Amino acid sequence: MREDIELSIVIPLLNEEANLKPLYSELKEALDALGRSYEIVFVDDGSTDGSVQALAELHAADDRVKVVEFRRNFGKTAALTAGFRLSHGQIVVTMDADLQDDPAEIGVLLGKLEEGYDLVAAWRFERQDPLSKTLPSRLFNWTVASLTRVRLHDFNCGFKAYRRLVTEEVKLYGELHRFIPVLAFLKGFRITEVKVVHRPRRAGQSKYGIGRLGRGLLDFLTVIFLTTYLKRPLHLFGTAGIAVFLVGFAINAYMAYLRFFLDQAIGTRPLLLLGVLSMLLGLQIISTGLLGEMLRNLTFRPEEEYSIRRVLD
Ligand code: UDP
Ligand code: MG
Repeated sequence: MREDIELSIVIPLLNEEANLKPLYSELKEALDALGRSYEIVFVDDGSTDGSVQALAELHAADDRVKVVEFRRNFGKTAALTAGFRLSHGQIVVTMDADLQDDPAEIGVLLGKLEEGYDLVAAWRFERQDPLSKTLPSRLFNWTVASLTRVRLHDFNCGFKAYRRLVTEEVKLYGELHRFIPVLAFLKGFRITEVKVVHRPRRAGQSKYGIGRLGRGLLDFLTVIFLTTYLKRPLHLFGTAGIAVFLVGFAINAYMAYLRFFLDQAIGTRPLLLLGVLSMLLGLQIISTGLLGEMLRNLTFRPEEEYSIRRVLD
């Protein structure tokens, strides 16, 4: 019977007590109007306010409300992974719990999906967030869009619609939820975006600050590496290795020239040595990091990304 559910709304949340009931009523209204069978899966990512209690009440009143309660805060990516795995709809819509996304727009995302896409991302066209958020976000979107061929304006928006297969195939860990469209695109899924209205956060506080820009760009390095070089690490390491070798070779050739043709002493030139050393060291560090990411990716098991205290089904 579960397999008959058409639509799953997956909502990761952390300390959103004041938003949950208004969110539920807006959602219910929008979903009932769509006339499809649905479930709403709230994933509580270790809230310490009254969120869990509020969710239990919603669940008691409506059996289409499902609650996954994490033992502690594992992050939005893990919450999405859990939501994907524990939901059943043929189509999955993710959204934030802070009412910044308008449930009435779900129909718009679904309409676009049915034009033949596998993933539809919402584009917060006139974003209602402070400049300290929108500016780094612009930089981030521009970098990601220009370095991948994924032409989206708003990668990090939590409001998206997916066909079930997409949610089954993308491997998410760390903070990779920002790159779901990139990961899906690189697997050959058809992705697109639609403009949506964006609202100011109604209650509670934002959980992310400017720190996410740096982490986001590092994650981007991982995505590029995993998707382009994971299967051919030698293309990356080989090229860099040869370049470094050639630099060392040139320096040593120069040293040999000084020693044998100009008869100079070269044992007292520590600077060049230092240069070579630090270059090698830098490379070592980067490649160690990338190898770590590779292992992380290969040993990824979604059920180890979080721990569930309780499920209200
Ligand atoms: N969130 C989460 N776990 C976290 C941080 C955030 O589940 O560790 C949820 C949060 O409750 C919200 C969504 O992720 O539903 C987006 O967070 P937020 O609104 O703080 O981000 P912003 O809109 O400010 O970028
Ligand atoms: Mg928000």
